[in-house]
Amino acid sequence: MKKIIWAMTWLFILGAILSGCLVEEQVNPQQISDLGYTAFIHVNMVPMISEIIIKDQTVLVKGDRIIAVGPGRSVTIPENATVIDGEGAYLMPGLADMHMHTSQDWDTNAWPVSPLVLYLANGVTTIRDFGPSGEVLTYALEWRNQIKAGSRVGPTIYASGRILFASPLGGPQGLVRENHDLGFDFLKLYSYLSPEDAREALTTAKELEMYSSGHVPYAIGLENILAAGMDEIAHVEELLFAFIEYDRKQQLAPDAWLSYLIKSAMEQFDFASGFDEAEFAYLHAETMQHILEVLSTYGTPLCTTMVVDDVISQKLFELEAFLARPEIGFLPTTYLDLLLLGEEKHLVQFRGIEDLAVYKYDIDRWLLTELHQAEVPLLLGTDSGILAIVPGYSIHDELQILVENGFSPYEAIKTGTVNAADVIEAMVGEGNFGTIEVGQRADLILVNNNPLEDVANIKDPHGVMAAGRWYSREELSQMIALE
Ligand SMILES: [Zn+2]
Repeated sequence: MKKIIWAMTWLFILGAILSGCLVEEQVNPQQISDLGYTAFIHVNMVPMISEIIIKDQTVLVKGDRIIAVGPGRSVTIPENATVIDGEGAYLMPGLADMHMHTSQDWDTNAWPVSPLVLYLANGVTTIRDFGPSGEVLTYALEWRNQIKAGSRVGPTIYASGRILFASPLGGPQGLVRENHDLGFDFLKLYSYLSPEDAREALTTAKELEMYSSGHVPYAIGLENILAAGMDEIAHVEELLFAFIEYDRKQQLAPDAWLSYLIKSAMEQFDFASGFDEAEFAYLHAETMQHILEVLSTYGTPLCTTMVVDDVISQKLFELEAFLARPEIGFLPTTYLDLLLLGEEKHLVQFRGIEDLAVYKYDIDRWLLTELHQAEVPLLLGTDSGILAIVPGYSIHDELQILVENGFSPYEAIKTGTVNAADVIEAMVGEGNFGTIEVGQRADLILVNNNPLEDVANIKDPHGVMAAGRWYSREELSQMIALE
């Protein structure tokens, strides 16, 4: 059996060379039905069904599914199975980056290593794309199919179609239908929609049973957009606009909105003297209470994306140290050049108002803590793929930030496993991942030390399984080796 697979592998590689399309990453051409059995033995299992670790387990995988789980000898391992001896390592579910951005240029050599591979190397086995960037609208859906078929290496992809960005949309119904008919999984709404366009889009989305996530459009506000049917909020930071007093009826162009909001915020808050949490919480207790009530009424989940603030502050205040981080080497040189020249988007946006960046990060941390305490469903998301948020690596920073702000490691990991699966279930009925149980998609990370003690233990995994395909640490490091 193994010989046949090897022969097929070589035939495939040969075929790829002859047709001139050999991509740099290694490609495993096995169809799911051809994937044999893989047995993880002697692992400490972190099932994520509750905060427990079960010692000395065997987890058997066939195709892309977990088919048996049990103590040592209770699981019969088929003769032809690939056996991975965990030797007491910890087996946990793969992680999801629930807010990220793909770009069609991932297929060119703009990036030194395909970001899809960077995700896997970091244990990210599910990604959710918040809007395509490139000439072909549906490239991410094609990648998804190729990954499923085994002709491309990467995590499971869910994707939004064309973003509903700014009004006038010129027929929101048509846009929503187009996204739906092309096979996209959800809709993304952006900040600059009018109430009319947003309502029409969300009504159509409901008719088509299409899930929606997005920013809180400035002209609409939190309560109204949730009442209109938006299912999810794309960033925790979106809530901070609820604390700014401004005139929603303004009809402004996209560029003008942000400067208007910043100006309004500057009139109300003293950024220079810093964020005083106790005072802010006291003065705005009613607003916060109201936000929590509204979120609870609609059961709205939010993506965390805290690492964005963190990266902004590193770029503004510790650029040299930031550039020295090893994962920065995976960013496109065109982007790094902008950073070095001081022409990068965030550097430009916050020039002269650096205080605001600090203050904003503090408010966002406070919001995160309030949401966590109120048990609002949170989704691990990092906005990776854009603006120096490095695919895969950012997930570990995000987990760390959650822990620094009061989450237990278990609670932090839950945002990228169990909670992520709940949302994918609501979105497309595929919530069968995020725990280690029979029938779940075989998305797994094998790590040397206990992730429930320290989320940093998930970094540099011993190996990763994505939808039944196993990548050892050696294979992963080869795939992401920089020249
Ligand atoms: Zn985003």
